[in-house]
Amino acid sequence: MAEAKPFAEVAARLRDGRRILVAGCGGCVAVCQAGGEHEAQTLAEGIRLWGGKQGRVLEAMATAVPRQCEPEWVDSLREAVAQADAVVSLGCGVGVGFPAEAFPQACVIPGLNTIFGGGTVSPGVFEERCAFCGDCVLADTAGICPVSRCAKRLANGLCGGSSDGRCEISSDLPCAWQMICERLAAFTPPKDWSRAENGGPRRIRREDLFV
Ligand code: SF4
Ligand code: SF4
Repeated sequence: MAEAKPFAEVAARLRDGRRILVAGCGGCVAVCQAGGEHEAQTLAEGIRLWGGKQGRVLEAMATAVPRQCEPEWVDSLREAVAQADAVVSLGCGVGVGFPAEAFPQACVIPGLNTIFGGGTVSPGVFEERCAFCGDCVLADTAGICPVSRCAKRLANGLCGGSSDGRCEISSDLPCAWQMICERLAAFTPPKDWSRAENGGPRRIRREDLFV
């Protein structure tokens, strides 16, 4: 997930370029409506208007590919990149890096700040679900990521500070470890104690050992 850089920050990088290509991406940045085709068109229009106010005639073109992290799709930008003085990539950090490597002569500028791996939790609200830790533990934590969702990134259980299921760091947050424990409890059947208690000392009779 990503969000747009301040326009002034992007504009400052354009320097004296005249032909600007704004390249959108249809991957995760389109899900959070920061870097898709529509956002590329909007930014290109903003660059044209900004150029006009500066007394500069800027040609700002917008395009988009399904993913800027795929070399084949990046290559499809080759002709448009060749005609541009600067490319504003609306991909995530990975999506900026691929065209920068593929077109070493091009000036590739990031248009977004990449923030986290997440998804939509309600219209217009996107929340982290993965911090890309490289050693996924979701199989042991009932599918709830403690790295991204526990405020202390605890790996081994509750810190003891939660209250009414809310995190002690912020009551706006559910306690991730309480959610994990509750989900695991729901998956695990109760222990069978029928062989452990019988109202007195337990006895084993081995008649084959009687003399
Ligand atoms: S444990 Fe969490 S941060 Fe690590 S890979 Fe899995 S989901 Fe991502
Ligand atoms: S209250 Fe829960 S989510 Fe918050 S830091 Fe402690 S274990 Fe983590």
